[in-house]
Amino acid sequence: PPLDEVIAGLAVDVPDFPEPGVVFRDLTPVFADGPAFRRMVEGLAAPSFVDPRAAAVAHTDDGPSGDPGFDVVVGVEARGFLLAAAVALHTGVGVVPVRKAGKLPRARIAADYALEYGTATIEMHTDSLRPGQRVLLVDDVLATGGTLAAAVALVEQLGGVVTAVSVVIELAALGGRQRVAPHAVHTLWTT
Ligand code: 5GP
Repeated sequence: PPLDEVIAGLAVDVPDFPEPGVVFRDLTPVFADGPAFRRMVEGLAAPSFVDPRAAAVAHTDDGPSGDPGFDVVVGVEARGFLLAAAVALHTGVGVVPVRKAGKLPRARIAADYALEYGTATIEMHTDSLRPGQRVLLVDDVLATGGTLAAAVALVEQLGGVVTAVSVVIELAALGGRQRVAPHAVHTLWTT
């Protein structure tokens, strides 16, 4: 079956989490399914709007080689970490964390943003990207877009170039795509 149907079939809707009125899409069962997780990682690694001829990765016994179209994967704590690390391994590049406030030990920059529920601050180490580095930004869910818009701002403050934003699920009614514009959002399931 198509990947969006696989994800839709395994994800679980949790009403009133983390607060009344919010329906939380729980992706942990998709992560726990081997074939689904692999397809998800491959899908996130290959944004559909990147020319496949310019973004070809071949896998050999020595691991992946070729140009995936980005130099590093940036993942957002915490579910984004599970995906970003796998995408980085799959494409042969490194992975850089965007963390919740207070976790990174060295010099850092911060961005505040409003969540679908509440507010939050995310941070990156100031030396975690080199200017001009091409970045694939990865998270599990695009809801209002506040989180990824803040992550884009951090990446760009460090001189990174966002080539694509990849998410498993886009909750289209919340308008996150507009918050992240002009950067293109690649999604595996829009709902
Ligand atoms: P946004 O900032 O786009 O409103 O919210 C996105 C962030 O909140 C992501 O980091 C995502 O993990 C989390 N999030 C918001 N809604 C959901 C949801 O329904 N399911 C999951 N798994 N995460 C969500």
